[in-house]
Amino acid sequence: MRAHEIRNNTFPNIPERICRLGELAENLWWCWNPHARMLFKMLDRQAWKDSGHNPDRMLKALPDESLIWASRDQNYLRHYDLVMSHFDSEAYSGDYVGGPIAYFSAEYGLHHSLPFYAGGLGFLAGDHLKECSDMGVPVVAVGFMYPSGFMQQTVDNNGWQQTQTQTVDRESASINQVYDENDNQIVIEVPHIHPRLKAALWKVSVGRVSLFLMDTEIEDNPPWIRDIAKQLYTSDLEQRLLQEIILGIGGHAVLREMEVAPSLLHLNEGHPAFALLEALRCQMEQGVSFEQAKERLRGSSLLTTHTPVPAGHDVFPADMVEKYFGPYREALGLDRETFMELGRHPEHPEEGFNMTVLGLKLSGRCNAVSKRHGEVTREMWQPLWPERKQEEVPVGHITNGVHLPTWLEPKMRMLFNRYFGDGWIREQDNPAIWEFVEEIPDQKLWRTHYWLKVKLLNFIRQHARQEWILRRSTELLPAMGTMLDPSVLTIGFARRFATYKRADLVFHDLDRLKRLVNDSWRPIQIVFAGKAHPADDEGKRLLQRVVHMAKDPELSGRIAFVENYDEQLAQYLVHGVDLWLNTPKPPMEASGTSGMKAAINGVPSLSIPDGWWLEGSTPTNGWTIDSGPGEEQDRDEQDAAELYRLLEEDIIPAYYTTSETGVPHDWVRIMKQSIKTVAPHFSARRMIKDYLGFAYGTYSQGGN
Ligand SMILES: *Cc1c(COP(=O)(O)O)cnc(C)c1O
Repeated sequence: MRAHEIRNNTFPNIPERICRLGELAENLWWCWNPHARMLFKMLDRQAWKDSGHNPDRMLKALPDESLIWASRDQNYLRHYDLVMSHFDSEAYSGDYVGGPIAYFSAEYGLHHSLPFYAGGLGFLAGDHLKECSDMGVPVVAVGFMYPSGFMQQTVDNNGWQQTQTQTVDRESASINQVYDENDNQIVIEVPHIHPRLKAALWKVSVGRVSLFLMDTEIEDNPPWIRDIAKQLYTSDLEQRLLQEIILGIGGHAVLREMEVAPSLLHLNEGHPAFALLEALRCQMEQGVSFEQAKERLRGSSLLTTHTPVPAGHDVFPADMVEKYFGPYREALGLDRETFMELGRHPEHPEEGFNMTVLGLKLSGRCNAVSKRHGEVTREMWQPLWPERKQEEVPVGHITNGVHLPTWLEPKMRMLFNRYFGDGWIREQDNPAIWEFVEEIPDQKLWRTHYWLKVKLLNFIRQHARQEWILRRSTELLPAMGTMLDPSVLTIGFARRFATYKRADLVFHDLDRLKRLVNDSWRPIQIVFAGKAHPADDEGKRLLQRVVHMAKDPELSGRIAFVENYDEQLAQYLVHGVDLWLNTPKPPMEASGTSGMKAAINGVPSLSIPDGWWLEGSTPTNGWTIDSGPGEEQDRDEQDAAELYRLLEEDIIPAYYTTSETGVPHDWVRIMKQSIKTVAPHFSARRMIKDYLGFAYGTYSQGGN
């Protein structure tokens, strides 16, 4: 890869002895390494918090005295030297043979200070890059910058979602402009597309992995092009098409500019599928025929699909595609009909150009994201292979996993360190390691968990306090969770407010729920969080219903809605609640990952049998809401009834049966089962190993 310059005069205020703090702040490796985070926190706890855990912003704001103190403090320097030696061995890439994997995704969930994500797809991409860095799998990633596209959520007194856009401060985040030899920020142009589209380059270092983001909000573009980055997953189809043109075709221009010759293209969902066309065009430029180029691409491309319903895939009207692709398809030597055929669904040709169809037709391999989702996907796309039986449709599956060092809470990790032995993290996908969970005394695990629950409730109260100060209205205070009680069984439900996730299932029989919530001895409380897409009024109504419940005095302040679900709130929730609730309408949850994040921290799931839970559940690591076969229209009714029954008969008794010292041993047994059965099999380590076997080939550098 081309050596690109990143200016290193960003932090002139840092003393020489600790000057590499600036380098550390500019590589997200810090965000999944507790010792590195500690290095920033030790400088000034308050400033660390005030910066929103953003070391770039913090270092720029810190008074010189703090830095001078650190550069002379022996204790600080010992930590500094150790972290830097780990940084050198874990965040710089060694040599490898062959080209890297080029990973394309419309969103990346890496840390809350880089808000270029909407949800699960983004966190999967983020965890993918972090794990590839840890394992030394060579990856170069490309994506899109949404400078003002990050949506902040509040709800008004009536429970209606309000969204504010917050402009990302490009200057103070772990993100850097990429410069050419003449000190100009590199700008790429999307080839053969009219009108001309340009994007400036930014780089995010994710350990050893480089992620390049394209920024269209630049002078070189006319105003209407600058606007296309306003929103992630905009509902304006034309803007969305332009975003995807830039992501896929511009993404290749980025790789060329950086002198990256990938050995494999990996597309995360259909959004970047134009990248496949551009791979063909580049080969044809070298004199290869279209058919030959297609054949070669088969050996060097992979599509990961995430959406189990036809309506979830991007389809663009044929005229709109022709408007932009006229010159491009001529460069490919294709007439309009042949070109459109590449994105045409055989059963719905009138719909237009379908990005997933394009991806499936051109990529060599395709995988779904759980076993069940594999079945659903093969059924859904069988029309593309009419001569094959459903089980022979060439779509495999690799079940999602989560990046352990990111989602395992540091206190919990310290507890594991003590009982698992040194270096267990290197063997994190070995089930035998996790058997050592049994050696952790129940009381220790319970105390750690309880401490995390208290931390969550403090965080929720602090948010409510700030909102009260800001809004001068007390109306929403009870609904925001100010009356939550750490001694009460706490259920968490945090996900996008899409109707299929059925956030309101638990309110189906209100009287029954009120009895559970208001039980004097063994009550329950529920914390909700999540955003609705700004254009999804049905999702907003669902959210409003939850807020109305949270405001209802008859539910005693034991239902809470916490605003602005993001990576940080997700961390608090998956660490701190007692039980993770998941109630999608099957088979709509392709995989789901939040339940995995919870489980590795000892938070078991109460879930509908769908997505990953079909593979992850055992008779003793959580609870499955299995109401059996029934009429579709009664589904909510039956699922809700089973949900209440499990709470009443199994879950509440297990939670509230404690020993004299206050430890619920039955519950802790389930916590331990949840940790040890989920962590090894649903880690990103296991997932990346599966990708290596499925499509990536056998890259290996040893890793850590
Ligand atoms: C993990 C995560 C998601 C995805 O979780 P699902 O279980 O797929 O709904 C979404 N948003 C945030 C902030 C997350 O951390």
